[in-house]
Amino acid sequence: MHRHRFNFAGRGAGTKHSVTAFTFGDPDARPHVHIQGGLHADEGPGMMVARLLADLLAVAEKDGRMIGTLTVVPFANSLGLGQILHGDHAGRFDFYDGRNFNRDYPDLAERVAARVAHDLTLDEAANRALIRTALSAALQDHEPVGPVETLRHHLMGCAMQADVVLDLHCDGEAAMHLYTQPAAWPTFAPLAALTGCRAALLAEVSGGNPFDEAVSGPWTALSARFPDHPIPLGCISTTLELRGRSDVCRDMGMRDAQAIMDYLIWLGALTGSVDLPDAACAPTPLAGSEALTAPVAGLLSYPVPVGTQVTAGQVVAEITDLDTGTVTPVQATTSGVFYARPATRIAEAGKRLGKIAGSVPFRDGALLSP
Ligand SMILES: [Zn+2]
Repeated sequence: MHRHRFNFAGRGAGTKHSVTAFTFGDPDARPHVHIQGGLHADEGPGMMVARLLADLLAVAEKDGRMIGTLTVVPFANSLGLGQILHGDHAGRFDFYDGRNFNRDYPDLAERVAARVAHDLTLDEAANRALIRTALSAALQDHEPVGPVETLRHHLMGCAMQADVVLDLHCDGEAAMHLYTQPAAWPTFAPLAALTGCRAALLAEVSGGNPFDEAVSGPWTALSARFPDHPIPLGCISTTLELRGRSDVCRDMGMRDAQAIMDYLIWLGALTGSVDLPDAACAPTPLAGSEALTAPVAGLLSYPVPVGTQVTAGQVVAEITDLDTGTVTPVQATTSGVFYARPATRIAEAGKRLGKIAGSVPFRDGALLSP
């Protein structure tokens, strides 16, 4: 195990932050899998699972089980970890400018295309190596300014050379689910089965350039841009949503970490054998995911638990008016698994009340929540 601590200046004069990355196995071995938690710093489940994984991998390495190389970043956003306002932790949006910590990652596709256009060949492996080198150079081209850009730059640098990237998140309250690109689904279906995902949401581009798409997106963009040259998916990525914000539990975290260890065996990164369980869901398009919103303000309650399979027309939320006691029902217009909802129970008009994994695409534009 190699431990690398990256230190960087904070927003405030004289302040400092750090992010620790653990590397297991021969750094040049393949597959290289990058796993991080806590990019949204108020999401504990991913940090717990990444932390436990680092411990499991240290044992696996001692036991001589490493085939590939693993990088694990248990807390990816120390800036967000420090954002505590009047006792409440807020780690999704930067206090400085309100930007989501998991949006606006650099899109390197254009810069890499310019670098490789004349050097691509008919040899897929050579193209992959060429693009990996160009990705690093394109990232280094640009000097980040300020702590958030510096952090984005560092995390991209850690993850971009990996074959497979798992970005661990959670929702307010949720069933296990994941987001990925359609082309990557065959590689992530075993992860969805092992972790018991109840929804798998597929989109080529979700909008906003989140971390996962920033590391994988250039490969699909370059493949479309240069159709006469074989360009593999040199890096695939998923955002794995480990249930809800309060689902931080060492036992559950250890089961999730063990499921990811099994997935690493399936990927060929660790020795061992694994039996894949039956899938708990079929993939659905992110463009078919219904985002329910509150038509009025009031007290929010849910007649059904999160993770329920609901049908169009079914009441999935109720809003009680504080003045009159009138109850406004909120019905699903889509059938599917009610896979995520906020953790709060007081709604303002327009508040997002939850998500249903419908199978028929009906949305376009930016597909993720703000
Ligand atoms: Zn998140």
